[in-house]
Amino acid sequence: LLRIENLKKSFGDNEVLKDITFSVNEGETKVIIGPSGTGKSTLLACINMLVTPDSGKIWLKDVEITGAKDLNKIRQRIGFVFQDFGLFNHLTALQNVMIGLTKVKKIPKDKARERALEELQRVGLEKSANFYPAQLSGGQKQRVGIARALAMDPDIILFDEPTSALDPELIGEVLAVMKDLASSGMTMLVVTHEMGFARTVSDEIIFMENGVIVEQGPPEELFSNPKHERTRQFLFKLT
Ligand code: ATP
Ligand code: MG
Repeated sequence: LLRIENLKKSFGDNEVLKDITFSVNEGETKVIIGPSGTGKSTLLACINMLVTPDSGKIWLKDVEITGAKDLNKIRQRIGFVFQDFGLFNHLTALQNVMIGLTKVKKIPKDKARERALEELQRVGLEKSANFYPAQLSGGQKQRVGIARALAMDPDIILFDEPTSALDPELIGEVLAVMKDLASSGMTMLVVTHEMGFARTVSDEIIFMENGVIVEQGPPEELFSNPKHERTRQFLFKLT
């Protein structure tokens, strides 16, 4: 469903992505792990062209994103969940979920409201629909962020460290929603440091370091029998 080929990106003489190639199949959850400053966020930003790659190609289904003329159309098909939630503070939870539907997809308000409420229900927040972000906990805010991505009916959702801004006791509720999504067949690409999630929910793990994919494979293989010394060291440091 998503295919990335020989992707490269530098900022000045800082080579951040050096020849990245991988794909995500339909219905699959892939997790990217790796040290800070390795290029994980840059990689996700390239996928919806918030950052323009220097070379390489990205396809979403049969459309080449890297050569696309109508980026807005493609971005609608790629959900994005940010570390800092990215909600509009002057809008309620419901309005945050609705806004993409009314402004971008031009869906009539009553229809959009109905859809937004469904998605809020899916993340367990139907009772908080009229709360503003300031009235929500971090975990609730992130669940609104997920509902907003879901409402657009994307082909894939990209998550960039969705729980790393949360207090420890709020991480579980967000991971639980993500786990439900994964088992419902949503296609997901998740950058995270939550190794429990990576281990139990992902179909495949990519270990990235210094702009290259060092190793990728099913979680049981990568965790119990990493092929590369660097992967071993990284996992060892975390435990
Ligand atoms: P973390 O785990 O800390 O989030 P990361 O793997 O997501 O790290 P990136 O945010 O992709 O890493 O950053 C990789 C490198 O690219 C860093 O050296 C960073 O300083 C640099 N970088 C990222 N965005 C830009 C930018 N817009 N301009 C210049 N340099 C950038
Ligand atoms: Mg990052």
